[in-house]
Amino acid sequence: MKEESLFLRKDFFEILKIADHCNFEYYINTNGSFITESIAKKIKKTRVSKICVSIDGPTKKIHDKIRGYNGAFTKATNAIKFLLKEKIIVNGIITLTKNNYLYLYLYETLNFLKKIGVTKVAIMLLATVGENNKDLVIPFDEWSKLLKQLSIDKLNGNLPVDINIVATSEAMCQWELFLPLLNDLDLYNLWVDKNKSMAIKTGFSCTAGKRNLAIDGSGNVYGCSLMVSNKELIAGNIKEKSIKSIWNDSLIFNNLRSLTLENIKGPCKDCLYLNECKGGCRACAFNFNKDILESDYRCPLIILKECDYNEKKINEF
Ligand code: SF4
Ligand code: SF4
Repeated sequence: MKEESLFLRKDFFEILKIADHCNFEYYINTNGSFITESIAKKIKKTRVSKICVSIDGPTKKIHDKIRGYNGAFTKATNAIKFLLKEKIIVNGIITLTKNNYLYLYLYETLNFLKKIGVTKVAIMLLATVGENNKDLVIPFDEWSKLLKQLSIDKLNGNLPVDINIVATSEAMCQWELFLPLLNDLDLYNLWVDKNKSMAIKTGFSCTAGKRNLAIDGSGNVYGCSLMVSNKELIAGNIKEKSIKSIWNDSLIFNNLRSLTLENIKGPCKDCLYLNECKGGCRACAFNFNKDILESDYRCPLIILKECDYNEKKINEF
């Protein structure tokens, strides 16, 4: 579950009660702004497995600037303190953008989180979907340098907290992790939980409509949260149909389940790494070409091929 709109709902704790009754395993992603001492006490009575609080910088100045309002940092850090006081598991989330990816900032943020009692942090890479500003995505060469340094620090036990890198796709071999470490697969193996991937031999490893679904505030159902905001990918609406029938009968979900890598279009089709990478993220691919079968054009290999192609064209010209 994510987004602050959850905490704005009067029936928020009713929803959690139903989730508990159904034995769901769930966690909540939040910026912490609505978590007061009394909300933390109420959360303690639920069976939520953890609360993930976003902290994008080590100081008020940096975090508030990234989040766009004064007081964001104080609210997030207070939320963490209230939750930890109730002995609720709290993970940190750092969304890396051009505004906060510098090694120094990142380490200060990790050290700050450690100081206030957070021991596990997910570092998320910005996806180029929805309202995310594409200009904020870290250049791939800068990301590669940072990932190599983080990998060496992890190998040597020099990270202040346990970190996990969350790339956009759940591919068997995420290009965001694989490509920077192509020449050092031992370092790559530090980050990959092979058991987690549900990739099958010939299929995309995208879990949308297979293991995932997402429901927006209007009741529209999508394969995953990155698909939300693309009307073409709505599988149904829970105000009109049961979630069971949407899950079982929706054309989009059945389509997502039946596609194989042989169907992929564009440059990924000829990529050496297609069988490992499984074509990156379907939502990102759709975002570029309005086609779920297209290539993930965020991949630097594609960008390089495009450059070569353009250069060739220019030479021909
Ligand atoms: S070109 Fe496509 S298949 Fe190859 S690494 Fe990039 S995203 Fe994966
Ligand atoms: S579209 Fe698929 S690959 Fe991309 S984030 Fe969603 S589940 Fe993962």
